[in-house]
Amino acid sequence: MPELPEIMSRAREMKRALVGKTITGIEVVQPKCLNMRPATFKKRLTGAAVLDVTHHGKWIFIHTSQGYLLMNLGMGADVLLTTRKKLPEKYQFIFDLDNGKCVSVRFWWFGYVHYAPEGKLDRHEMTAKLGPDALEISRDEFREIVRGRRGAVKMFLLNQENVAGIGNAYVQDILFLAGLHPATTLDRLKDDEIDRLWQAIRDGLLPAAKKGGSWYEKTLRGKPGGFLYEDLLVGYREGKPCPTCGTDVVKLRTGSTQSFICPSCQKKKRAARKGAAGRQRAAGRNRPR
Ligand SMILES: [Zn+2]
Repeated sequence: MPELPEIMSRAREMKRALVGKTITGIEVVQPKCLNMRPATFKKRLTGAAVLDVTHHGKWIFIHTSQGYLLMNLGMGADVLLTTRKKLPEKYQFIFDLDNGKCVSVRFWWFGYVHYAPEGKLDRHEMTAKLGPDALEISRDEFREIVRGRRGAVKMFLLNQENVAGIGNAYVQDILFLAGLHPATTLDRLKDDEIDRLWQAIRDGLLPAAKKGGSWYEKTLRGKPGGFLYEDLLVGYREGKPCPTCGTDVVKLRTGSTQSFICPSCQKKKRAARKGAAGRQRAAGRNRPR
């Protein structure tokens, strides 16, 4: 599933290829991915010049002279810059450009291609309710949204309304880098641990973003991304040694998702912790003066 590194990479590639070009035609094969009737969608965007391409979490925002084209690649998608003569076998959308090229979109499972008029982005519910982008959020802002929350850290990170862009692939290494067990609850995190988690989000996402996303997704030119399986620290590396301590990485079930952790580096914080702190205090009291 594409996450922030892949989405950032696709947005960057599309910005380079599309800005300054005009959408001259649109072919819709799968209308259910749209948020309006195909005829209306075509009318809104045909003749639109692409001004910019940005992203927020797992959404790509193509800003045009006639409003926004919003894309969510769902479980994965091939978004290719090609020509009508070299179209892939399967596609659900084609956007023709005034330079003779076109962008074809094929969702592996399901995705969204939406339109929002200029100035009305806040009325597009699916993007309006997203939390701050996981790589844009400041450390102070992150502390702010974590404090006072009680849920498990992994579920918190996966909920796009808290922070946008993290999914079940990159969250594994993020939690490893933060030294946190996925089931650790947020109310147990101290300030320095929250800061470490914020840093881990950056360190867990940026290397892949710099390499054009993961190997299992294609770039706009149809090449695999440069972030490889070997680049993962513990994610999907069951039975392989932890890069820090050498302990075998284990796979476990956490709620509805699977997790990969180093059982030595990512110990679950138990309620007993409180007891341990209490014991320390008691020991302090008993210390001879
Ligand atoms: Zn370890």
